[in-house]
Amino acid sequence: MKTILVAVLISFAYLTACSQQPTSQQAMHNPYYSRTDTQKLHVDNAAWKKILPDQLYAVSRENATERAFTGKYWKTDEPGTYYCAVCGNPLFRSGAKFASSCGWPSFFKTIRPNSVLYLADNSYGMERTEVRCGRCNSHLGHIFDDGPPPTHKRYCMNSVSLDFEADSMKR
Ligand code: FE
Repeated sequence: MKTILVAVLISFAYLTACSQQPTSQQAMHNPYYSRTDTQKLHVDNAAWKKILPDQLYAVSRENATERAFTGKYWKTDEPGTYYCAVCGNPLFRSGAKFASSCGWPSFFKTIRPNSVLYLADNSYGMERTEVRCGRCNSHLGHIFDDGPPPTHKRYCMNSVSLDFEADSMKR
């Protein structure tokens, strides 16, 4: 009887926790994922490797790039918020997303100035600026100066690095 009671209590606790979590698979099994905690994370790659799906690990921790026109968000325009898929940090609102012909989801501004970090990237013989998550330091994509007004910036992101929640899904 005691065992059954414990099992019921654990199930209830699990369901309660899940109802407060985002629905994406990676977020549900990631203890560092939070859309409200702004504390910077210092988690090493060995730990992330155990938590993140392979493609997300390759992009976020090894700077891989998903193929253009293949990601799930490159042409979406539904109202909502884009969070870091690794840690849940709010990154972009849909109102800052614009149709770009580059094949990756593109935005002209972040939600907050410190939503992201910028690093010089001279790999592949190019001078680019890498964009990383301001909370977990994961690679998101690059920023270019050919975006639309008012900022004229183009945050060129990997879809796999983003976790989208539509406004219509908010409770
Ligand atoms: Fe992050």
